[in-house]
Parts: sequence; structure tokens; C-alpha cells
Amino acid sequence: MSSTLALTEDLLRRPSVSPEDHGCLDVIGARLAALGFRNERLTYAPVDNLWSRRGSAQPLLCFAGHTDVVPTGPREEWHTDPFEPVVRDGMLYGRGSADMKSGLAAMVVATERFVARHPNHVGSLAYLITSDEEGPSVDGTRRVMQVLEARGEKIDFCVVGEPTSHERLGDTIKIGRRGSLSGRLTVHGVQGHIAYPHLADNPVHGFAPALAELVARRWDEGNEFFQPTSFQVSNVAAGTGAPNVVPGEMKVRFNLRFSTEQTVESLQRTVLAILDRHGVKYTLEWFVSGLPFFTRPGPLTEAVSGAVRDVTGLTPQFSTTGGTSDGRFIAPTGAQVVEVGVGNATIHKVNECVRVADIDVLSRIYERVMERVLAPLRLSPV
Ligand SMILES: [Zn+2]
Repeated sequence: MSSTLALTEDLLRRPSVSPEDHGCLDVIGARLAALGFRNERLTYAPVDNLWSRRGSAQPLLCFAGHTDVVPTGPREEWHTDPFEPVVRDGMLYGRGSADMKSGLAAMVVATERFVARHPNHVGSLAYLITSDEEGPSVDGTRRVMQVLEARGEKIDFCVVGEPTSHERLGDTIKIGRRGSLSGRLTVHGVQGHIAYPHLADNPVHGFAPALAELVARRWDEGNEFFQPTSFQVSNVAAGTGAPNVVPGEMKVRFNLRFSTEQTVESLQRTVLAILDRHGVKYTLEWFVSGLPFFTRPGPLTEAVSGAVRDVTGLTPQFSTTGGTSDGRFIAPTGAQVVEVGVGNATIHKVNECVRVADIDVLSRIYERVMERVLAPLRLSPV
């Protein structure tokens, strides 16, 4: 069994449902310590984080990721035990196999090979691994970045091991992510008898024209690297359950995934203007779960894209689609951030799986990234 597969299976056996870590950070930390990394555990119970660094010079190339996984969902829909790794027909099954324990294993084993061949690499290598990426993400990467910033420790290049590939390993890498802004809207009306509408004020009717406009709106055209901004309603609730009562209020939750063409303020202004124009009576709470981030094509995108090409022959597409990632906490410090990992077709689903062969290939891609960034002086052939 390859070293990457063995480590992936070890991590998969640990049921680290967010924010649990179940010893994953111990395993990774021990492997890194053996290579001369200095480990620091930043624990904000129940969240656990590992910051581990080898060397003190710049540039600092950091691998980032998470040991936590999302819940299994209905166990009876799994064909295998989600926390007992099983290889079948070339696929490795288990919760976290794609998101993202195979990515963690690929990084660690790649680092072992790289350090063995380049013990005196330029700059520094680091790992920022959290047990809270799938949860609230407050005491995870965000908190570690605050600690690093407070002591002036700066990441220059960051490779996040999230699953980014579509059809083939390495066909897509992420160079940014859209922002996410949510609203919790309460539309106020007056409850009454449905046969006496002049004595009531129906909040559903009051909100409907505004909703139609919000849904139909073209928020922007996106740009070269981002899809257009999108508005979606996730929850609507109104009514007492009785068929003869006009409801007194309506609750609506919505979300905007937005490109770098927008800001939180510009979106909020637009939403408020639409609600006001239609005379909606409301209260509204906002939640920003992530600002958009973007790494302009440059040294790191070139290093990662070149590494994918060196190993697989594919030239990856640059993408900013999908949900948010912890890159949103790292990029604002000025770090270049690129995400590259295994296929994402089954993440968060039952029967999550990864192609076994891809784990070793990904590990070689990570090794090439390190060579391109931290070993510009080639070793003479052995
Ligand atoms: Zn993930």
C-alpha cells in the first residue's frame, strides 16, 4: 500500500465530525516534527488547530486544510461504514475521503519526499490545519491568522488542499471564491380574517412584487474570473396553518453569492432600495459569511498550474466557483492563495469517495509545487 493511501486510511478511521479532530492533528504533527517542523497547537476548545513551520526565512509556502468532516447523513444509505475505509473498484470510500483527508495525506507525504531531497530548501514551509472548517469557522483558520498577524508572521504563498477537480485530477484549480451574504427578513403585516381583507395587511402579498424583482434582477455580469452575482431564497414561512387567516408576518431567508464586482454595502443598498420602493414593512438582519477573494494570475498560479502540467500533462482551468473556503481568511493578509485537490463530485454526500490513484498523483503535484517555489536551484542529477 502506498504511504499516501495508508495515511489517508488512518485519518479516515478517526470519526472527526466537525469540530472534532479525533487525533488527526497528532498524526500529522508527528510526521511533520520528524522532518524538523516546529509544531504549535492553537486550541480554542472544542476547536483544535495546528500551525507547524520548518525554517524561518521568507518566502513562506503554507499548506492549508482541515481535519473535520461533515456528518455522515443517513447511515443506511452508505454502502460501507463511513468511518471504515474500503477500496472497491479503484475508489476509496469513507467520510472525508475527498473532503479532504486524502488531500492532507498527499501534502504530508509530498513534504516528506521534498524535505528528504531538499533539506536546505530556500524560504520556509508551513502547515495550517484546523478542525473547524465545516462548522462555524470562527476559532479555526480565522483565529490562527489573527495570531500570526499579531506577531508579524506572514504567509507569502498558500496552497489549500480542498477538492477542486471535476472530471480529471488537476483539470481545475481555484484562484478565488465568491463572497456570501445572507439576510434574515421579517415582513410585517396585520393578521385578520381572510374574508375581511380590508381589515388585515397580508405580508405575503406585500413582499411578492419585491421578491419578483430581487429574483429577476441581473446584479452584475461577473467578470473574467467570476460568475455573475446570484440571489437565492432558502426559506420562506408564513401562515398560522388555518386556511381562513391572513398571516400577520412572513419570514424569509435569502443568500447572495457575489463576485468582486460587488461589495457587501452595494448589495445591501440595492436590496433595501427594492424593499422600500415596493413599500414593504420589514426588519432585516444581515450575515456576512465570507468576502470574495481572488489571487491574480502570477507566481503561485503559475507554480501550481505548472506543477499540474509537469505531473499530469493537463493545463488546469482557473475557477472561482463553489462555496466559500478558508482561503477567505488567508488571502486578505496579502498571501497568494490557490486551491488544488482531488475530485469534488461526491463531497458532503453519502458514499463519499476518491479515486485511489489520484491521491499519489496529487502528492506528486504538491511536491512539484514545493520544488517550483522553494527549490529554484535544481539538484544536480543523482
Ligand atoms: Zn473541505
